[in-house]
Amino acid sequence: MSTVIDSPTRESDPTKADSPKSPSLDQHPNHGDAKTGDVAIPQMETDATGMAKPDHGKPTAQERRRRDNLSLYALGWLGLAHIGCLFAPMTFTWAGLFTLIGLHWLTGSLGICLGYHRLLTHTGMKTHNWVRYLFGGIGSLAGEGSPLDWVADHRKHHAHSDQEGDPHSPHDGGWWSHVFWLAFHTHDGDRKDYLNHWVPDLMRDRGMRILDKMFLPMNLALGAGLFGIGYAFGGLSLATSLFIWGFCLRLVLVLHATWLVNSASHIWGYKNYETADDSRNNWIVAIFAYGEGWHNNHHAYPRMAKHGHKWWEFDMTWMMIVLLKKLGLVWDVVDYKNAAEKRARAAAQADKAA
Ligand SMILES: [Zn+2]
Ligand SMILES: [Zn+2]
Repeated sequence: MSTVIDSPTRESDPTKADSPKSPSLDQHPNHGDAKTGDVAIPQMETDATGMAKPDHGKPTAQERRRRDNLSLYALGWLGLAHIGCLFAPMTFTWAGLFTLIGLHWLTGSLGICLGYHRLLTHTGMKTHNWVRYLFGGIGSLAGEGSPLDWVADHRKHHAHSDQEGDPHSPHDGGWWSHVFWLAFHTHDGDRKDYLNHWVPDLMRDRGMRILDKMFLPMNLALGAGLFGIGYAFGGLSLATSLFIWGFCLRLVLVLHATWLVNSASHIWGYKNYETADDSRNNWIVAIFAYGEGWHNNHHAYPRMAKHGHKWWEFDMTWMMIVLLKKLGLVWDVVDYKNAAEKRARAAAQADKAA
């Protein structure tokens, strides 16, 4: 267990917001370097006087737990995927297992960790629009909801971590934070209003709105595609194996890996940084969730695309970001903790070049 506790230094970072209760710019999109203005800074919601509207984190977990607020869509989707897993033992094939492993990495690491989380939620790097849509599309295939809903819920989590309004805090129950929070709508009955508040950047983006509509069709097409390929190459038995292992079981394993970040990484593990929330670094979660288990590091420095901060905190998703950077597909990757560190690095690089 590490005993090194560091306090995140925020004083000089122009991207930090004042109030932890508001959708802080640190967690918010496209704020980039406010000094150079090279990326658009989303505006806080304002009232008639032009003052920023306070965000009270409504609805709270307690307010959401109503029968008429149940999300039957989510319950049906998640329930069917879990029921499908019951058929895994009798449909095993090696092809099914390798399909599961490949799609687990593709949708979990590239789709959710890199695409939905580090790129779309926290804008930890810049990239071409087509790359954003590609990763948004791959993320959709993880079956965790459209980019709009996922990013909105996660930004709200950062703005209210382990306080009232956090969509999935273990303070409301360990199982609630792991899965049951998904049974109820996270908005107040007006999804559009909720999305406009938390993801104004994605709502303005036509490509993201299309991905939102395509969530279910794309997932159904993947399931049908796996079944069809299996049928073409090995008849009904391979078809059911690819569908159950590559679709249902893979989906459920990726879901629980992501959910462990919300539950276990806010309960068990160590802290590198003193944060106001209960986030922890949990190495088991880091393995299953491709580096996302270094969650205390992430809460301390949300925009930093690199989640492993010590040499032994292996972060598989970060390896992929390094590769994408080498290929020129992403740039301006946030691998620094604050603006002062960024300036020091730039000065050191300039010295080297001179
Ligand atoms: Zn968290
Ligand atoms: Zn995050």
